[in-house]
Amino acid sequence: MYELNICHLYPDLLNLYGDRGNIIALKRRSEWRGIKITVSNITLGDNFIPENYDIIFLGGGQDYEQTIIQDDLLKKKGGEIKNAIMNDKIFLCICGGYQLLGKYYKTWDGKEIEFLGILDLWTIGGQKRMIGNIAFECDFLKSESCDGKVIGFENHSGRTYLGVDVKPLGRVLRGNGNNGEDDCEGALYKNVHCSYSHGSLLPKNPAFTDHLLTLALKQKYKDFVSLQPLDDVIESRAHDSMIKRIL
Ligand code: GLN
Repeated sequence: MYELNICHLYPDLLNLYGDRGNIIALKRRSEWRGIKITVSNITLGDNFIPENYDIIFLGGGQDYEQTIIQDDLLKKKGGEIKNAIMNDKIFLCICGGYQLLGKYYKTWDGKEIEFLGILDLWTIGGQKRMIGNIAFECDFLKSESCDGKVIGFENHSGRTYLGVDVKPLGRVLRGNGNNGEDDCEGALYKNVHCSYSHGSLLPKNPAFTDHLLTLALKQKYKDFVSLQPLDDVIESRAHDSMIKRIL
């Protein structure tokens, strides 16, 4: 029987707009296929040993929560997070959790928060928040059964800009994405998947969930080939009705 271990980093502080829905989607879609999932919550002061996990999740957090974790992140967990990323560990990072893998965040009211600087990106806050439904297109999700379109919900003041080493996760079809200017949404670096879309991301985009699970299972089990298909009628209805509404 296959087993995966998921780490939810700072679940008490980084968990906005239903971000835990992403963990639930990973868990449910695994269990429906007989794959055992263990979720571990690791927060301020806890030791973080990335080797214990197959997928690491960082959710969104407002500027205030990002400041609270800054010390623990930079002094205690940053080195381990960097090693894990360089060793191809699979990450999903949402909004505030995405921003903190970058170099810094200049908040809209002038504070500069130093972040991990693992990914070549940076964030600058604006007065006007970017709020609403979003649709974007990811090439890595395109297959015979998926057109690569992803739907979600964004709510951020930070505008993120990518340096040369980091590719966008997708191309914005509707909404703002990284900064409302360059049509880029999120970031993709090695196995790190970053997005501005919150808790509806994996539940409403089953192909994305399965992509992460497949990456993790292939990395862990040499004999793993592919996931068995599921009945996605409900998920597809949620996905397709939003696509129709916002595109
Ligand atoms: N604090 C960040 C911003 O407003 C992130 C917010 C979030 O995670 N939704 O840009």
